[in-house]
Amino acid sequence: MTKNLRLKNRDDIRGIYRSGQVTAELLAELSRRAEPGVTTGELNRFAEEFIAAHGAQPAFKGYNGFPASICASVNQEIVHGIPREDRILEQGDVLKLDTGVVLDGYVSDAARTVIVGGGEVPAEVLRLLEATQMALDDGISRMRTGNLLNRVSSAISERIRSAGFKVIRDLTGHGVGFSLHEPPVVHNYPVPEGGVFRLVNGLVLALEPMASLSCEEILLGEDGWTYATVDGSTVAHFEDTVAIVHGHPVVLTRRDDGAEALKRI
Ligand code: MG
Repeated sequence: MTKNLRLKNRDDIRGIYRSGQVTAELLAELSRRAEPGVTTGELNRFAEEFIAAHGAQPAFKGYNGFPASICASVNQEIVHGIPREDRILEQGDVLKLDTGVVLDGYVSDAARTVIVGGGEVPAEVLRLLEATQMALDDGISRMRTGNLLNRVSSAISERIRSAGFKVIRDLTGHGVGFSLHEPPVVHNYPVPEGGVFRLVNGLVLALEPMASLSCEEILLGEDGWTYATVDGSTVAHFEDTVAIVHGHPVVLTRRDDGAEALKRI
């Protein structure tokens, strides 16, 4: 068992679920607002108001010094894009929105990829988004007690590779709930430590496959935060916070799971 692993009881998971519903609703609102002409700075300001109005706190702002409440990463940018008032979204931009909130001490973390303005994009970009979302769903479906963590990681990497895309290897998912990043690290491909870590009830993970059209190498930008692909190829990123309850996965950061998920916790 990984050192410092902190499992969650049912009250904790209900708390993370309530936090996760604020994150899910916020991502839906941000996705709707990501229109051509809008700046990523405006989206961040909306997020700050939304989070405060829900009695929550931003999980990202101030984390290791991160200056904003959302990450907004465009096209070849993968994660940790800093929102800016001069970053104007254009039709067809592939925007990764990543955010998290703290509600009553419980942390949730999720991300969506949207095409700005629903504009025309190459078919392979649509396929990339679809494959990355499916990789997340495949990983979630393997979150069952008794499975090794590598079952989750392999499901993610196999889906992305079989669709002909590249797994971003140097960025990972993680435990979440009491703080933003907890053990274990969840790689998006199988690793030796994932071959000895067995999944148990009360585990809460943020799964977050990241995939690109043609490149797995990453580059840190001059702002010290934004990661992008070395070859400039487009990236997709989807993330959900997921608990294992009664042996099975329950997604805590999707609205459509809603009351149904709560019944299962
Ligand atoms: Mg995360």
